[in-house]
Amino acid sequence: MYQNIVILTGAGISAESGIPVFRSETGLWEQERVEDVATYDGFLRDKTKVHEFYNKMRRSLLDKKPNPAHLALARLEKEYSKKYGANVNLVTQNIDDLHEKAGSQKIIHMHGKLKSILCEHCNKRYPFDEDSSVESECKFCHHKSLRPDIVWFGEMPYQMDEIETLLSKCDLFLSIGTSGVVYPAAGFCQVARASGAACIEFNLSQSAVGSQFNCGIYGKASKTLPEFVSTLIDTGKLPDNVKL
Ligand code: NAD
Repeated sequence: MYQNIVILTGAGISAESGIPVFRSETGLWEQERVEDVATYDGFLRDKTKVHEFYNKMRRSLLDKKPNPAHLALARLEKEYSKKYGANVNLVTQNIDDLHEKAGSQKIIHMHGKLKSILCEHCNKRYPFDEDSSVESECKFCHHKSLRPDIVWFGEMPYQMDEIETLLSKCDLFLSIGTSGVVYPAAGFCQVARASGAACIEFNLSQSAVGSQFNCGIYGKASKTLPEFVSTLIDTGKLPDNVKL
């Protein structure tokens, strides 16, 4: 039985809910250059464009629903931890709100959240559900210094100390729907393995860091994950077909 489970999710888990992954031909990201909308320099060059880009993404969350993979992880947190007295922690690179909608509670959004805003003047971050612009005022200091609460390329992801601590204690590490090319998340498997954890990746096919895992389960996460989670909850063990 596993006592400390850490789960890392990436854009792939939300793909089946209709949110495009980072590197897809139809993705929203593909219509803009990453340097323009996902770096601080891009923000300085054209703040209005960047606000509008994230406003559009935030609005697009309204009709998005969690899929069976998100629901399975919420079940794992609730039922596995209750049955076995275990710690189940979710670290997501996603900026959407589908884990919250699915009912997960212990979530670290290491790359920030669309439904949050950050004030560059007073450094406060707070829940935010509207459109932002260069004219929007911080609700705390009233400066017009708001930016999307997103960790852009070149910026430090949130809660890294906490994540490192969780990884250093974990005995099972699951990585779901992430390409393994964005660091530091792509290095989490190595940290977890150094702690002795069993590491399993779920993806459509082997990711860029797939060879570092003990085992890979390939196929759509909405199909592979619910079955895996049910066995883990029922038996406290990995399914028989998962060979470490
Ligand atoms: P990525 O787009 O680089 O890779 C997605 C991965 O998911 C790929 O390896 C792909 O094979 C896999 N995948 C696609 N559909 C899948 C499915 N149905 N089941 C299982 N796997 C599937 O995403 P990334 O590695 O998370 O890195 C992109 C960065 O961009 C993230 O850090 C995130 O901040 C941001 N982003 C977030 C969202 C979101 O919040 N939903 C969407 C796009 C990008």
